[in-house]
Amino acid sequence: MSAILRSYGANVSVEEIVVDDPMDNEVLVRTVACGVCHSDLHFKQGSMPHFPVPAVLGHEAAGVVEKVGSGITDLKPGDHVIACNAIACGTCKQCLSGAPHLCMNRAPARRPRGAPPRLSQDGSKLLAFSDLGALSQYMLLPRGALVPIDKDIPLDRAALIGCAVLTGVGAALNTAKVAPGSRVAVFGCGGVGSSIVQGARIAGARQIIAVDIVQSKLESARRFGATDTVHASTANPVEAIMELTGDGVDYAFDAVGSTRLLSQCYESLAQRGMAVLVGAIPAGQKLSIDARGLLRERKVTGSFMGSNRFQVDMPYYLDLYRQGRLDLDAMVSNRLPLDRVEEAFAAFETGEAMRTVITFEGA
Ligand SMILES: [Zn+2]
Ligand SMILES: [Zn+2]
Repeated sequence: MSAILRSYGANVSVEEIVVDDPMDNEVLVRTVACGVCHSDLHFKQGSMPHFPVPAVLGHEAAGVVEKVGSGITDLKPGDHVIACNAIACGTCKQCLSGAPHLCMNRAPARRPRGAPPRLSQDGSKLLAFSDLGALSQYMLLPRGALVPIDKDIPLDRAALIGCAVLTGVGAALNTAKVAPGSRVAVFGCGGVGSSIVQGARIAGARQIIAVDIVQSKLESARRFGATDTVHASTANPVEAIMELTGDGVDYAFDAVGSTRLLSQCYESLAQRGMAVLVGAIPAGQKLSIDARGLLRERKVTGSFMGSNRFQVDMPYYLDLYRQGRLDLDAMVSNRLPLDRVEEAFAAFETGEAMRTVITFEGA
């Protein structure tokens, strides 16, 4: 069974699909858990029209290898894996410059032209959102989309590493390179924001200010490492941050993806501070900032999927989890079966859920 989006704005339908056998470099994975991410919601609502429908949703998953193609020698049935859509070619300018997360070539993620489709229904091709299609009992993926992991890690926790944790922790550690002793503000404390909070704590920040409009998220942000919280519907976050820090923060992250929040991030910066856009932002939005602040060497940048090198980052983050330094347990706010996936989308509306994870039978 798979969660299929047939048209933008419609409800997801859970249906049987046909998953092909793995070709040479492909792996068939039995999905055990898949987190539901804001990008799935954006896709469902039609704000990512460059991803066509009908498509199988989902891109934050972990599972068990079921079958491997003839060219695969380093994975076998029974191995545990995390899937990641940052599939890289290894030969383009970005890959060769140390930024494989910005790989310019999508071909390695897909089957060659003329090959039968990986996913189909009644003979018609189905696309996989984000080239993963992870809200599905089975995923058929290129080897380059998978990282093997040890079997002691619960797969519903491991799944979160596939997107939210990779994006948030990576934004702090890889993109911003948060320095020990620095001050940090994080705007929006859902799955990605709380991962940024944790990344800043792991990096040794002295002060981490969590900003949100939902009280329960501010409380959980404290558990993840925030030293201060600002309720943005009752206080002006820029003024509150200035009051808490004296001269502003060294790093401010927009985990939501809003020009209003990003400009507040910028206004919250100390001299030489860095504002980082992490959340997905709709196309065409223009940012307005006081340009004179740039002369105080403030910077504005973005972080794409935590500037990840996921084959290296994921085992690192799992070590941090084992050592109790990265809390994945508290990030899972709810577990649901696939046929209740619409409830996961509805939970985004209230803003209360941290992360809903869809778990599959036999999990
Ligand atoms: Zn995601
Ligand atoms: Zn590349």
